[in-house]
Amino acid sequence: LVETEADADETLQPRAPVVTIMGHVDHGKTSLLDALRGTDVVRGEAGGITQHIGAYQVTLKDKSKITFLDTPGHEAFTEMRARGADVTDIVVLVVAADDGLMPQTIEAINHTKAAGVPMIVAINKVDKHEANPQRIRERLLEHNVQVEEMGGETQDVEVSALKKIGLDTLVEKIQLQAELLELRANPDREAEGTVIEAKLDKGRGPVATILVNRGTLRVGDVFVVGAESGKVRALVNDKGMQLKEAGPSVPVEVLGLSGVPMAGDPLQVVESEARAREVAAYRAGVIQQKRTTNTPA
Ligand code: GDP
Repeated sequence: LVETEADADETLQPRAPVVTIMGHVDHGKTSLLDALRGTDVVRGEAGGITQHIGAYQVTLKDKSKITFLDTPGHEAFTEMRARGADVTDIVVLVVAADDGLMPQTIEAINHTKAAGVPMIVAINKVDKHEANPQRIRERLLEHNVQVEEMGGETQDVEVSALKKIGLDTLVEKIQLQAELLELRANPDREAEGTVIEAKLDKGRGPVATILVNRGTLRVGDVFVVGAESGKVRALVNDKGMQLKEAGPSVPVEVLGLSGVPMAGDPLQVVESEARAREVAAYRAGVIQQKRTTNTPA
């Protein structure tokens, strides 16, 4: 419907890695996401206020960036993947050092392996006296996750999200893994992105957080997103700042949608509003038809 040709090699430029944090409930995903947010050197500078938009980007001391999806839990990851939206470059698996490998840990390992996404293990809560990181490494081995110390290739790092221990090392390992992946995208083309989350906001109308996959999304751009269309009225980042544009790997809230799309829906910038409405209407029709066909008589 909307053509998506691959970009020529010479147009590609490095982009920030997109990281998802997974792990069992209470092992510290939320705490780790908050702690990593705190490593941002730009945060606070512009006086922005933290906005939970489903993803955020940190700028590190060396000016490089990392994008974190902060919709923790496996639902988002699995659901988006099921819908063909492979937005995650790297998974950080959080395991509490005072607990062990729990059902959701194993589920996360399986999902990550199935997706073919590299994994970094963050052994969390090492500040606790009952923490036993070595036992976690042994348990991981039983599930075919071989960390370096056990002779394997999977990176692991001991952290405490609470006491902010090991965060720099974790960030370094993410950067190292990202380098190996040679992540690149063409910023100089009409934007394509993926819906991370979407909602109907009382004051602002339909709002979607878009992770830009390639190209640059700009205020005024006309787009189709899932079965909705629109024209970018405003772009707001995770620090509550209005942007004029957002390039590859940047998560932004987009205002100016005709309705609320679904997580995992693709966004594409198109040449005209007529075209956007046409594509959106066609898709809405297809969805409607699927629903009718799937409804038992
Ligand atoms: P989630 O369910 O995986 O998102 O886990 P949370 O981040 O909500 O953490 C669950 C509980 O573990 C909370 O009470 C946290 O304060 C605690 N917690 C998280 N990280 C650490 C840590 O590094 N050390 C200690 N001692 N407690 C932690």
